[in-house]
Amino acid sequence: MSGSAGGGPAAPAKAAVFLDRDGTLILNDGDLGDPDRVELLPHAASGVRLLHQAGYPLVVVTNQGGVARGMYDEAAVLATHDRLEQVLRQATGLPRVIAAFYFCPFHPQGSVDRYRREHPWRKPQPGMLLAAASEHAIDLERSWMVGDQERDAQAGAAAGCRSVLIGQAHAASVADFFAPDLHAAARRILHEDAPQVVAGVVTLHAADHGILADRDLRAALEASAHGLGERTGVRLVGLDWTADSVTATVEGGEVVALGFAAEWRRVTMAWWRTRGGSGSLWAGE
Ligand SMILES: [Mg+2]
Repeated sequence: MSGSAGGGPAAPAKAAVFLDRDGTLILNDGDLGDPDRVELLPHAASGVRLLHQAGYPLVVVTNQGGVARGMYDEAAVLATHDRLEQVLRQATGLPRVIAAFYFCPFHPQGSVDRYRREHPWRKPQPGMLLAAASEHAIDLERSWMVGDQERDAQAGAAAGCRSVLIGQAHAASVADFFAPDLHAAARRILHEDAPQVVAGVVTLHAADHGILADRDLRAALEASAHGLGERTGVRLVGLDWTADSVTATVEGGEVVALGFAAEWRRVTMAWWRTRGGSGSLWAGE
């Protein structure tokens, strides 16, 4: 069910980022219905975090012709997506990551009768993107498709989106941009949409396992980061916590982020020592 109750004005349509699943978010050659085999690709989590923090709803759109070929069923795809969301939450520290999952179980050469046909949702056709746009009030012209296959870029183009293809640039592609991984794709999207805001991201790892799960410690470190931002004029976009690490995103690019992290590390270590903290706060001291 969707739609707004009460007859009020509809929310303005928003820009979103559509993400292919296999070969873009997770390590796979294109057919996966086993939740236990979900494994994020390098830099996928940081790319997802960057896009999420920039405010784009993230929508997964994936062809799952393995259903038509009888390799697994739709319930297995749903279980795999639940697992992917869980893995992404763990990796990013975000409370919720993917706004919606769409998959196409049909394939014209399938072995299961009810799934053996062409379907408007099957990429390179744009059906999943169009359905998501109408169900989630997405402005397709301001949105992006990111995938690792030409059919992903074609589906994006057919829906009216811009696209980033993960892989080597080639002239025959309809993709607007090329990137080596999802993090690089995310940076390209942010650069195109808001060139004046270049985000830099840096992660500090705690010296002791689990120490950053302590709410009081987190609050003190967070206050220190905001204070440092005010003193140095660096705008802190956000801090993402796990029990073992914190990732700071700042405006101004990687060099600014590295400088900010080095100074934050220094002042928090000094504070840790005056507070009588034992050992080191951060790894690598
Ligand atoms: Mg793919």
